[in-house]
Amino acid sequence: MALRNILKEGDETLLRHCRPVTDFTPRLHDLLDDMAETMLSANGVGLAAPQVGVLRRAVVVLETNTPEGEEQVIELVNPEIVEADGEQTDPEGCLSVPGAFGMVTRPSHVKVRAQDRYGQWFEIEGVGLTARAFCHEIDHLDGHMFTELCDHIMSQEELDEYYGQQQEQEDAK
Ligand code: ZN
Repeated sequence: MALRNILKEGDETLLRHCRPVTDFTPRLHDLLDDMAETMLSANGVGLAAPQVGVLRRAVVVLETNTPEGEEQVIELVNPEIVEADGEQTDPEGCLSVPGAFGMVTRPSHVKVRAQDRYGQWFEIEGVGLTARAFCHEIDHLDGHMFTELCDHIMSQEELDEYYGQQQEQEDAK
């Protein structure tokens, strides 16, 4: 496994449409392994192949809705959202736009159909942050960035205020 370089906003590769994965070879497995390692080392919850310069439909997402210490990397090859419902609006960021967050509304629950690294089709559901990450990463495969969905990049003050309010709500529970 190896760390790959994460392309930053402004790189044209991030705006391009990715082609389906057709070969489920060791080369794909290396890519997915490297993507997981790169995502984890950057403290991200998702990474799409175009972010490491590969224009293929593959993403990794970190499932965090698990008991402490049991986070799981989910690999999605040729993913498609087949069901979406609910709504959540929270600050969203991207490893290709370091340090920038904007308010983005996403479904609060999605079901995704995808292939695993061996080509086997499966369905998986995500809620909360995981649903958000599924949507965000799948958008990358069509050249879309979260910055298209928020009206502005939040200032540190706005972020502090948002997270301060969240904390107050937590404390009040
Ligand atoms: Zn992103």
